[in-house]
Amino acid sequence: MSVDVRPEDLRKPLPWQAALWLDLTALVLQQQLPHALLLQGPVGIGKRWFARALAAYLVCENRSGYACGSCRSCVQLAVGAHPNALLLGTDGLLGLALTPNGQHAQGLIHWQPEAERKRRDISIDAARMLIERLGISSHYGHQRVAIVDRADALNTASVNALLKTIEEPPPGTQMILISERPQALPATLRSRCQKIRFTAPETEVAQQWLAQQLGHDDADALIQGYGAPLTALQLASGDGVSLRHAWREMWLAVARRRQDPVSAAASVDREALAEHLQWAWSWIAHQFREAVLQRSDLTQRDAFEKMLNEITEALRLSGGNAQPQLLLESLLVSWLRVGPRIVGN
Ligand SMILES: [Zn+2]
Repeated sequence: MSVDVRPEDLRKPLPWQAALWLDLTALVLQQQLPHALLLQGPVGIGKRWFARALAAYLVCENRSGYACGSCRSCVQLAVGAHPNALLLGTDGLLGLALTPNGQHAQGLIHWQPEAERKRRDISIDAARMLIERLGISSHYGHQRVAIVDRADALNTASVNALLKTIEEPPPGTQMILISERPQALPATLRSRCQKIRFTAPETEVAQQWLAQQLGHDDADALIQGYGAPLTALQLASGDGVSLRHAWREMWLAVARRRQDPVSAAASVDREALAEHLQWAWSWIAHQFREAVLQRSDLTQRDAFEKMLNEITEALRLSGGNAQPQLLLESLLVSWLRVGPRIVGN
């Protein structure tokens, strides 16, 4: 995210999460917080923001309402150097940092995959390292917290390795799992977590927050971000809005036979492939929702589902060794067939 978020803001939940924050921090004070939480809900509405603020609150030595920002724990967490705050993800096992992406260039690296394996899934080696770290008796005898982000990137072996830790973490350990696709998690894992559902805020609340961050109104970004304020912020702070507009035009042109799939695929920057696929998924999912709202006996249901499945599969493959141009080409060839049923000729 290229917009500067003030560090003090990161210690607090987002405005639309205030009630949830009060509930969960009250449970912390009563020592009743379930030891494994699964934060689930659509992308861009602040699950990670909330998870990091809660992690900061948990490890803070001088909390009152929120993490204090100035104790030893808070200072370490700011740069990812807190020994008891961990982030498990496809980049390995890192020191959790109170930054907009949870990482810090100077942060601790507990375990890292080799470069070419990065971003595919959360390996068993990373999961084992987490278990090992949590098994070491706690530094300063304080709370420990581990965020697993994205939990649906855990592979079968790493899920199995983590099950026992998630069911019964070592004393004083809080596990926070995050997923946009909780249905992709094995039931054995889901059933061991307390699910916390996140939803998009009311448009007015989202608009107000976005305007505060940007210093001006940007209704267009919120529309392009399908009501998700953090997605909108990301869009508004770069060339995201115009880029997405161009992508939409390209997909429409393919469906309407004005552009062939090969040249269309070539027009997408390969560095932006994952972002493009995520956008395409949201764009189609949004139209699907709108269509279902308009009529329950939707005849294009299979077309929507086919495209969403294919994009999900392409997203999965894009993290591996798949050739970006070919991946997108084959997706757009499918779109050429089913697209007209979704967006008209
Ligand atoms: Zn503190």
